[in-house]
Amino acid sequence: MNLQTGIDAPRLEIRNLRKRFGNRQVVDDVSLSVKPGQVTCLLGPSGCGKSTTLRMIAGVDMQDSGEIYVDGNLICDTLFRIPPERRQIGLMFQDFALFPHMSVADNVAFGLRGATADKRARVEELLAKVNLSWAIDKYPHVLSGGEQQRVALARALAPRPRIMLMDEPFSGLDNRLRDGIRDETLAVLKEEDTAVLLVTHEPEEAMRMADEIALMRDGKIVQQGAPYNIYNAPVDKQAVAFFSDIN
Ligand code: ADP
Ligand code: MG
Repeated sequence: MNLQTGIDAPRLEIRNLRKRFGNRQVVDDVSLSVKPGQVTCLLGPSGCGKSTTLRMIAGVDMQDSGEIYVDGNLICDTLFRIPPERRQIGLMFQDFALFPHMSVADNVAFGLRGATADKRARVEELLAKVNLSWAIDKYPHVLSGGEQQRVALARALAPRPRIMLMDEPFSGLDNRLRDGIRDETLAVLKEEDTAVLLVTHEPEEAMRMADEIALMRDGKIVQQGAPYNIYNAPVDKQAVAFFSDIN
């Protein structure tokens, strides 16, 4: 099978991913892709298999079958596996724990290799983008939750990942701050040219952030498309109910 390569290739493509735990099929034939410049949202209720899917893409969990491609290149199937640190994938989770004993600068530089001056320049560039230049020599405990979140974003972006995997990254934040932080995060990701696979159980978050939604239930993708289309034409009664909390 020929995949697209080069600038038109999807940043991330997964095909027919499956995973069982015991006799439970937790991820059941999941396929999706994320195009350059886009946010694809894996949306579904708690327990439907979203985080398991992300863990396989990140390489911290191994699929039973199926393939994962970054920029059109195979990074993992059942016979071949590139280790997590070489996948050019960035990660952000709800529990985005910064290293408490390291300064903001050292946190952001953590995943970087190369000359000290180059690392410093990259750290300064990213902290400017997340409006935290003033905090470069501070320690995480003096920062607010929203500020720590922005440091975590800078840290995840530092090695220039081709794709960012975000697992409910905003759910620990105060309601009042969340919309603003969502928008700022998207702006920085676009500026850095990083495509995003965002996992959430909140339809409202998917509607706000996604270019494309993959609706997941019981390990399967039940509907996929533009947010507007999914919202206006949910595939079945369960999907209608799932979207009904949004006003
Ligand atoms: P979601 O992120 O959508 O809430 P998860 O992918 O975390 O769902 O989990 C899907 C299902 O798989 C859940 O029922 C969960 O209990 C189960 N599960 C996840 N990880 C493991 C594991 N390591 N061993 C056994 N069951 C697991
Ligand atoms: Mg989860």
